[in-house]
Amino acid sequence: MPNFNYHLGASALASAVLVAYGEAAYGLGQPASGLAFLAGVAGGVLPDLDSDSSIPLRFSGIVAGLGAASAVAGFAMADSGVFDRPWRPLTVAVAALAAFVLFNALTLKVIKKITVHRGLFHSFPIPFLYAGVFALLISSQGRKTVMAVWILGVVGVFTHLVMDAVRDLSFNPLKFATSDISASTRLWFGTALVNLLALIYPFIPLS
Ligand SMILES: [Zn+2]
Repeated sequence: MPNFNYHLGASALASAVLVAYGEAAYGLGQPASGLAFLAGVAGGVLPDLDSDSSIPLRFSGIVAGLGAASAVAGFAMADSGVFDRPWRPLTVAVAALAAFVLFNALTLKVIKKITVHRGLFHSFPIPFLYAGVFALLISSQGRKTVMAVWILGVVGVFTHLVMDAVRDLSFNPLKFATSDISASTRLWFGTALVNLLALIYPFIPLS
């Protein structure tokens, strides 16, 4: 199995080439090229979320833990009579640490539970789901940026799936869906919906 660095290198290379082309042919500019490059590179490592010891998985756990910790710290330091806030610094630190540990563990557990390696995150809808979600998130940046991000997002994830397939001489990473029919149906439906929104939204004139 190609490792994290291979996937990162390949998606970074593909993204750099495409962004350079977009710059030359369409004058992408910022933030389009920066966001598109990010979408491509991150897409290249995304599928390994379903590998139990992968770097993207650990990263998700850390991000979830930090989010929970900062939410708890924000709550604890707010000035309010309820729960005797603001708390003393040591109490805040302990509460934030507890939140981090708890949410980190929960996130890892949930993602591991819903995925098997080369499962859902290594199937055909994922490049489109990822690109659609990313494009939706940055839809306020205008059409050019949305299109650039969408294309790089799709290509980024595909570099991963294709590399896995070539390296192992197996079409498994390029499967249409998983063996779970209902999960696959929901996945494809959600993917179609997200992409419809992402690609239509920037073209609705703001009255
Ligand atoms: Zn993989």
